[in-house]
Amino acid sequence: MERLFELARANAETHPERSDRYVELALKIGMRLRVRPTREMKRMFCKSCRGFLSPAQRMVRLRDGVLVIRCMRCGHISRMRYR
Ligand SMILES: [Zn+2]
Repeated sequence: MERLFELARANAETHPERSDRYVELALKIGMRLRVRPTREMKRMFCKSCRGFLSPAQRMVRLRDGVLVIRCMRCGHISRMRYR
């Protein structure tokens, strides 16, 4: 599963559509194995459209110790605490 996220990241610039596919696969496998994506993984995809969030497709802001990530494709905003 981690390997798939690595692949998604590696393909983000050259083949964005492949990245989405890898994310989809990784999530599917995770569900089957009942493994939850790690914080790092969660940061890499949009919960709403399940697309891979490459630096070009997201907007990240840090506010009061909270990381705000906005997906540029569907506009979904996710927040997570930042250490
Ligand atoms: Zn999205």
